[in-house]
Amino acid sequence: MMNNPYDWIDRSLQTIHRAGWTRHTRTLTGLPGTVINIDGQVLLNFASNDYLGLASDDRLIQAAIQATEGYGTGSTGSRLITGHRQLHRDLEMAIATLKQTEDALVFSSGYAANIGTIAALVGKRDLILCDAYNHSSLRNGAIVSGATLLDYHHCDLVQLSQQLETHRKQFQRCLIITDSVFSMDGDLCPLAELFDVAAAFDCMVLVDEAHGTGVLGKNGAGGIEHCGCTGRPAVQMGTLSKAIGSLGGYIAGSAPLIDFLRHRAASWIYSTGLSPADTAAALAAVTVIQTEPDRRDRLWQNIVYLKQKLAQLPNLPLLPSDSAIICIAMPNVQTAMNFSQYLQSAGILALAIRPPTVPTSRIRLTLMATHTPAQIDQLVIALAGAVVNAPR
Ligand code: PMP
Repeated sequence: MMNNPYDWIDRSLQTIHRAGWTRHTRTLTGLPGTVINIDGQVLLNFASNDYLGLASDDRLIQAAIQATEGYGTGSTGSRLITGHRQLHRDLEMAIATLKQTEDALVFSSGYAANIGTIAALVGKRDLILCDAYNHSSLRNGAIVSGATLLDYHHCDLVQLSQQLETHRKQFQRCLIITDSVFSMDGDLCPLAELFDVAAAFDCMVLVDEAHGTGVLGKNGAGGIEHCGCTGRPAVQMGTLSKAIGSLGGYIAGSAPLIDFLRHRAASWIYSTGLSPADTAAALAAVTVIQTEPDRRDRLWQNIVYLKQKLAQLPNLPLLPSDSAIICIAMPNVQTAMNFSQYLQSAGILALAIRPPTVPTSRIRLTLMATHTPAQIDQLVIALAGAVVNAPR
């Protein structure tokens, strides 16, 4: 009897299901927004990354339609072959202006931006220091790079400094990688202090602004602006898929950094250029971010309003948050699942995030600029109901 070399996949899947780690997709129909139709049920949406509500904005939709009509659906090649359009350059310059950097480069996704950039900046003789709560794309970029990878405890700059004291001299280059806003907690890295540590030990810093861009900072540039670090040398990464409401990723930084990535970032060189529709929609969104600060103000009014309301509810411990991501700590996986199910029965989409994605279970809420106070009140009423009625 021949062995089936794929049998192990069934066994692995069974292990995943037995551990309670089964994942499944939900089908959204119609436009995204604060009210969505998902798997046939109309729900209030507190699970979206569309922080400014731009993914259904008519200006982005029209920009995408016009770009498709003018340039076609696909970019037809990598940027160095046939995949480059003036639109890409316009978007890159707009991102550089938003971030106050010399230049920027757009990738096909944020994930690809992190992988390609980290692997271009460091290699076998180098060291990477990684916050324990960093996004998977940062960690995988570090693994792909072949550099020695050390974790430091979440936001623990004392431990980071100790590790650098012990190990820095044995390596050629060193890169510290961190989210600005941590995606599953919503808290903010102390970036000013982190930059000081990096400077003291001659380290580069890559900051992932996926959840900071458009949300934090006076001009919406992100966590770096919020922490008063604009202009400090850094590799600023972000995605076009959250507050920017489109698809794709970017790196912003010095002109030599960006030029170097054009020559060395494999996920940029060997991957098809961003589609005209995605590029044009992102460009329209960056313009909105720059010209309509009141959208960001509305998001922050919603964040403050929800936190005030939640503080009045007993038995709902909040994790520290400085962003549009607000998490409620749950004692265990089952309670988190029961909470999420109860909320869904009350017309609310708010997801349970559990191990192995995070160390401890939580309900993760995300706010949008377009939520109304009445919608937030409805969420709070449902949460109060879950405290009493969801099985623990
Ligand atoms: N970094 C962080 C912190 C993220 O949350 C995400 C998306 N979940 C990414 C990177 C990847 O970005 P993209 O979705 O554009 O691939």
